[in-house]
Amino acid sequence: MSLYSKYRPRNFRDLVGQDHVAQTLERALEQDKLSHSYLFCGSRGVGKTTVARILAQGANCSAKKEKPCGKCRGCLTVAKGSNSDILELDAASNRGIDEIRSLREKVQFAPSFGRYKVYIIDEVHMLTKEAFNALLKTLEEPPSHAVFILATTEAHKVPATIVSRCQRFDFHRATTKSVLELLSKVVQAENIAIEEEGAVLIARAADGAYRDALTLLEQISLNVVAGKEEQAISADTVRAKLGLIAEPLMWQLLTQVAGTKKEEAIKTLYKFIEQGADWRFIVNSLLEKLRHALFFAIAPSVVTADLTAQEKKYLALLAKTMKEEGIVKLINLLLQAQEQLRYASLPEVPVACALARYFDSASPASLKTAITPKATVPQKEKTSLAESGEKEAVAISEQVWGKIVEAVKENNSTLAGLLAQSQPYLASGNLIIEVPYKFWEERIKNSKNNKAICKAACQVLGEAIKLALPKPNGAIKKTLNEAMRQEDKAIKDEIADVFG
Ligand SMILES: [Zn+2]
Repeated sequence: MSLYSKYRPRNFRDLVGQDHVAQTLERALEQDKLSHSYLFCGSRGVGKTTVARILAQGANCSAKKEKPCGKCRGCLTVAKGSNSDILELDAASNRGIDEIRSLREKVQFAPSFGRYKVYIIDEVHMLTKEAFNALLKTLEEPPSHAVFILATTEAHKVPATIVSRCQRFDFHRATTKSVLELLSKVVQAENIAIEEEGAVLIARAADGAYRDALTLLEQISLNVVAGKEEQAISADTVRAKLGLIAEPLMWQLLTQVAGTKKEEAIKTLYKFIEQGADWRFIVNSLLEKLRHALFFAIAPSVVTADLTAQEKKYLALLAKTMKEEGIVKLINLLLQAQEQLRYASLPEVPVACALARYFDSASPASLKTAITPKATVPQKEKTSLAESGEKEAVAISEQVWGKIVEAVKENNSTLAGLLAQSQPYLASGNLIIEVPYKFWEERIKNSKNNKAICKAACQVLGEAIKLALPKPNGAIKKTLNEAMRQEDKAIKDEIADVFG
């Protein structure tokens, strides 16, 4: 007997995750107020047929309370499968009018020994139009001893005329948490040793279906038992069985991206290439993880049972290092890559580009903060180069710099042309100008030129500018990188912690 049949709930008490359905039906049985037709809606594997069988058994149970009792004659015949008053029809394979006609004829006969004849029609939306019409006639005037239970995964395909005749119940999709509850119950009863993380992975792979969870558990445990003895099923074994081997590598990639470890991230990407990875699957998985990270960054409490303890640790790290803004940026870049993947002959290229662009945007030089004319500029007493405070350097936006260059151009167009090709920053009341060629430094240091630049900058920014300090290309970026490195040290230590 499969684990699923063995642990299939036999009464409403054992039912997991469908309390709203169980309570109403249990009460109807106790008060003897059964409806003639029910419609059970919900995705596959959530227990619709199981509940239909419990209800059918309860209808013919002679106990006073807690039906079905499992002990009376009615209940025992159901358990043995010899109860001729409960009939099941799978509409997926019996769609036509003939089946429904024969059902209509049979339904006229009284039940053989119970009070009700119960018809369970599974996947009822599959019936043909004629079959539905025939069924409708029966539902409109049912014999007093008939109960119809119609089950469907696609309620919108059931004609409204049928739906309006039925008492409708919508079954909830199983949450990972309730699947986990069921798994832990079965694991205990069956003496199966499995790592907690492995159980979470199975529960998640079951995607809302209890039946799938137990089937997966069974397959994996059989395999393991046949292979090695007396060993707990590890999370890695589960990953291998579920085709999730790439998972740890994906987390590694994301934490490297978060820590702006460009080179290492590209090396990890290369490992995927070596493994002949399915890039669509990988991009999808990365997006799913980032979606969790985004939720974690905004509302940590919504991230719950779906994740293993290790995954939560990774998410906390991503949320902390990338922040909401960085996560959104990477999600957008990967969404673009996902689109490009459809046409790419080398599928790793869009992904590599997405990462490169993310790193590029995460570098300090590109954080072009627009400075409004009245922006406060940090003031300091000393103006020497060494103490001019590049750590506080703020890039001047292209727009603002354009205005300054224009003002210079009025008196000195050569100087303006040179400035237009330089990169400006503000730090401690000084204008720091990164020049592409070393010999331009002298042109800026020239006292007449320097005064002209400061005057123009002062006009545009509305702040006193002490000096224009020329710097070789890349100097500011390096200084900023160094400052960021120090600030981020704590965060990077945490990354090291996660990887042990
Ligand atoms: Zn009974």
